[in-house]
Amino acid sequence: MEDAKKYIEDVLETVKERDPHEEEFYQAVKEIFDSLAPYLAEHPKYQQFGILERLVEPDRFISFRVPWVDDQGAVQVNRGYRVQFNAAIGPYKGGLRFHPTVNSSIVKFLAFEQIFKNALTGQPIGGGKGGADFDPKNKSNAEIMRFTQSFMTELSKHIGPNVDVPAGDIGVGGREINYMVGQYRKLRGSSEAGVFTGKGVDIGGSLTRAESTGYGVIYFVENMLKEFNESLTGKKIIVSGSGKVSIYAMEKAIELGARVVACSDSSGYIYDEKGIDLETVKRLKEVEGKRISAYAEEHDHSSFYGGEKIWQVACDIALPCATQNELDENDASTLIHNGVSIVAEGANMPCTLKAVEQFRENHVGFAPSKAANAGGVAVSALEMAQNSARVSWTFEEVDRQLKEIMQNIFDQSLSAGRQYKCEDNLIDGANIAGFKRVADAMIAQGVL
Ligand code: GLU
Repeated sequence: MEDAKKYIEDVLETVKERDPHEEEFYQAVKEIFDSLAPYLAEHPKYQQFGILERLVEPDRFISFRVPWVDDQGAVQVNRGYRVQFNAAIGPYKGGLRFHPTVNSSIVKFLAFEQIFKNALTGQPIGGGKGGADFDPKNKSNAEIMRFTQSFMTELSKHIGPNVDVPAGDIGVGGREINYMVGQYRKLRGSSEAGVFTGKGVDIGGSLTRAESTGYGVIYFVENMLKEFNESLTGKKIIVSGSGKVSIYAMEKAIELGARVVACSDSSGYIYDEKGIDLETVKRLKEVEGKRISAYAEEHDHSSFYGGEKIWQVACDIALPCATQNELDENDASTLIHNGVSIVAEGANMPCTLKAVEQFRENHVGFAPSKAANAGGVAVSALEMAQNSARVSWTFEEVDRQLKEIMQNIFDQSLSAGRQYKCEDNLIDGANIAGFKRVADAMIAQGVL
């Protein structure tokens, strides 16, 4: 065990020395590697084949200029990225994020997480991620179109249905994906449906792709509750964010009998004791593009708390579905003090390492993002399968497969955790199960 720990520490040290400013990337690597000691100790082959050293270095890191013209006629320049991290089990797969915080550390952490998340789905997809430091807020439709077209003009040189298959993430939804697909088809002069996922249903997209991440989080939580012979009925839930992941997590939770009392956006949170009226949130966010505070103006029994964090609301289940590191150790203490029993990550790495430590110490059921939010990319892989076979499955069929995949992720994580007598079965078990699939595929294909 000591040898394995030393091996992990040495590789973590290299990561820190090589890219000292990439804090989020280091955090993501540490989160996974810290779980692996008992597994590596029993299997020295991973050290012999240099798996950890090879894993932390992406196959390729692409950074490029994205010039575009705004509505005033001025030339703007953003930076675009695509990290093709690991293709041991299939073409690179992962979303594109358009947000001003996007930088090399953010895209690398997201791509690294994606490797293990994608492995857990059991589908043949490798790990990648990309995006741009472009802020879609307050941009006109024409500006969004020009930006995404320029972005795709460069990205199209690096992707393909068997090479790298992007999708959406924060700031990239159906509209942006459709524009990128259009530009790709124009540049290539060929249709290649499987080059992108999250497409509109009319241009080869899959039913349930929009709902899949949020629904998947709730299916995962249902599995956790079942272990204690419990269900979602009557559970009080809070959900950060009001994007697609949050909205569809709320939708499924409400459908299964839970009471969602609070949700948020970057301006603050709303609390509605009677339970959030989801139709209002959907209209405000998806149709009218308003702030969440508008909800309180329409619902007398609700309140808006501007600039405050949602984690002070007492609940049984907390679902961080907004962005990375949105829940720190102080928020974790507050949640624990108020009696939270489950925290499931809908966003990618929304809890800091210290917050997770608090949940571990206090025996709060914790579902890490690479397991809990894998439903989105899993349905992306189902979209790729439909595209290859040129068929379209029904909503019910895709939803059935999604449920099955979430159950498998839960079962494999739990059993890996139990087998290696981990401190926390789900967190460590998910890391070990994902790692095992990728690392074994790397060994089988030689030193590359
Ligand atoms: N952006 C999503 C994620 O974080 C989905 C990626 C995909 O469908 O490729 O998993």
